Amino acid sequence: MHDPLEAEFAAAIARVLERGDFILGKDVREFEAAFAEATGVAHGVGVASGTDAIALGLQACGVEAGDEVIVPANTFIATVIGAIHAGARPVLVDCDLATGLIDLDAAEAAITPKTKAIVPVHLYGQVVSPRRLLEISERHGVTIFEDAAQAHLADRDGYTAGTIGKAAAYSFYPAKNLGAFGNGGIVLTRDSAVADKVRSLRNYGAPKKYLHVEHGTNSRLDTIQAAILNVKLPHLREWNRDRNACAAEYDRLLAPLADRGIVPMRNDSGGGHIYHLYVLHLSDRAPLDRDALASALQERNISTGIHYPIPCHRQPGYLDLGYPEGAFPNAEALCGEILSLPMFPGLGLDRVETVCTAIEEIIATCG
Ligand SMILES: *Cc1c(COP(=O)(O)O)cnc(C)c1O
Repeated sequence: MHDPLEAEFAAAIARVLERGDFILGKDVREFEAAFAEATGVAHGVGVASGTDAIALGLQACGVEAGDEVIVPANTFIATVIGAIHAGARPVLVDCDLATGLIDLDAAEAAITPKTKAIVPVHLYGQVVSPRRLLEISERHGVTIFEDAAQAHLADRDGYTAGTIGKAAAYSFYPAKNLGAFGNGGIVLTRDSAVADKVRSLRNYGAPKKYLHVEHGTNSRLDTIQAAILNVKLPHLREWNRDRNACAAEYDRLLAPLADRGIVPMRNDSGGGHIYHLYVLHLSDRAPLDRDALASALQERNISTGIHYPIPCHRQPGYLDLGYPEGAFPNAEALCGEILSLPMFPGLGLDRVETVCTAIEEIIATCG
């Protein structure tokens, strides 16, 4: 995927070296503006990672020690870490079995007087229902802070990921749909006060040099990473369309397996889904289990993934959140039953067909 852009990357990095503006340089400002514009919000503030974007973004939205922040149990652990680093107590809720997204009825039921924010995760590249999120936010006066780390420019019902709530976090970890050559993240918001607060927090709490008006940290998007992202951003929509087309082909070729209990996670947002991951669900009606399918595919040199094998509340380092096994049945069931198939721009419809044929043949041998 990167080959055609190699000369542009080299030139972009050379310009940074020439200028020497390694910290909060020109490329950072340009990328912040370009990415905010691509999503349709006024402000983007580049930070060191998606995890920090969640932590600093939540803090900038007013989350304080002792506040509760509702997050899904079915997400990458960084969502939980971000809430903890903001000082909040993460309150986990279950997910919907068909989509894997946060169960918004459960989220609404988990709201208490201490709830400051809900962090919907646009998991696998699909935006959580904007209409329902806005309804809940309005009815209960809680802040919506989106984790859009897997949903670069995904959209649903006219909303781009990151534009529904008060603010949002994106990650530019290399494997994301828009990835740097290292770590990076951004907080998006239409609220200039939130943007200013993140700008201060990311830079030692300093509105100007050697004046520290609050407890900040060092978490800036690196200029060289921003230069890489400036080269890649113009191609993001085309890469997303490519993923969506591959997903449509998977859907079409795998449809006959629904009878055997093997179905893709449901797409409720059509062309707006940007398929960071293409995830299959093997129910207990399937003739073989997830691990057996994964190893049979690996024998044919087809690598797959599991996103994720252990739900957040059962991670050894996070048992202190206090949730027992069985607390979130859907999230727990999915961890044992999902399989992520190959998905990247340039995968090609032929490769998709090869994978689907392999799955069909493996299933056929199960009788
Ligand atoms: C990748 C990811 C993050 C964290 O991003 P980093 O840049 O790796 O810190 C947060 N949430 C979700 C859902 C992610 O997939």
